[in-house]
Amino acid sequence: MSTSLLPPSLPLIHGLTRDQLVEICRELDQPTYRARQIWDWLYHRFAADWSEMKNIPLGLRQALAQRLALASATITHTQSEAGEGTTTKFLIALPDGDWVEEVLIPARGRTTLCISSQVGCKFNCAFCASGQAGFRRNLETGEIVGQVIVAARSLGATPSNLVFMGMGEPLDNYDAVLAAVRIINDAEGLSLGARRITISTCGIIPGIQRLAQEGLQVELSISLHAPDDALRSRLLPVNRKYPLGDLLEACRAYAEQTGRLITFEYTLIQGVNDSPEQAHELACILRPIHARVNLIPLSTVAEFEGRAPTAPVVQAFLNVLERARINATLRISKGGGVDAACGQLRRRMIQTTDDGRQITDRRIQTTDN
Ligand code: SF4
Repeated sequence: MSTSLLPPSLPLIHGLTRDQLVEICRELDQPTYRARQIWDWLYHRFAADWSEMKNIPLGLRQALAQRLALASATITHTQSEAGEGTTTKFLIALPDGDWVEEVLIPARGRTTLCISSQVGCKFNCAFCASGQAGFRRNLETGEIVGQVIVAARSLGATPSNLVFMGMGEPLDNYDAVLAAVRIINDAEGLSLGARRITISTCGIIPGIQRLAQEGLQVELSISLHAPDDALRSRLLPVNRKYPLGDLLEACRAYAEQTGRLITFEYTLIQGVNDSPEQAHELACILRPIHARVNLIPLSTVAEFEGRAPTAPVVQAFLNVLERARINATLRISKGGGVDAACGQLRRRMIQTTDDGRQITDRRIQTTDN
């Protein structure tokens, strides 16, 4: 009885809530404690194969294996920066043979896992390899949870923080992402607190409005990157459908309804969005919102010609925001050495395999797990 990477003809066990697992055990004439034992194998011991579940009777394991698939994601490659405690990127093979990426980022005593919500992406943001590679499909709930499980297995513990900033737009796969958040948040499972989970969006207004109704304490992060419609539509084409004024109004309503602070990500690009005038404009549009701004100088990526501004320009931009009493922090993006912009590793992998050539980049290491 082993796991495989065949297409998932069976539902993924990591897509079930605890109550649903109890219900399946009941249908198999099993006591409730069996569901608790299986849940323990899934979320405390990160089991990768039914055969590991030694305290579950063989007959029950076989019955479960006929109804549910256990392996939803497998790490096929890792790529790490040199040194200990550094960023590691995982290429995850899915049962249908495609890949997504996730990144483990240790920083300030935390381990943040950045996961994917879709295979590829529809939204084509200017400096993103995932968008430029096109959209393939939504991830299922079990595949999203499975990314956390394979990372936890590799780490030997549940990551302390989770961000939906990998491949895909989480609010474009709303139901699967929210179901995964609830499973990851389950107090008797991974028990990752909602405040440690960040959903990042390029600005899907209906998703923001739905999220406000969920009663969850998750963090919301908006990829803003421009203080006006013309520039934002150039950098994030989604702005043509959900323009800045409407987006900011949805954010204001979200913050008011949930009492939560919203984070706005602003990637600084030399000569594009880094002038003091644009900093003033940014301060002006964010003033009515309970918000904080993360300023991130652009990391060089092959997909985009732009560069980061010089340090004095970055500081001048930050000074304008601070003088306007906008809560702003300068962040240096981690993982430049591991193609950390989402979609880069998958794209290299696809190019390699489509061409029928071997991987030549020695930074990519094949892993066993
Ligand atoms: S940044 Fe996010 S929303 Fe934009 S193209 Fe990339 S994955 Fe999609």
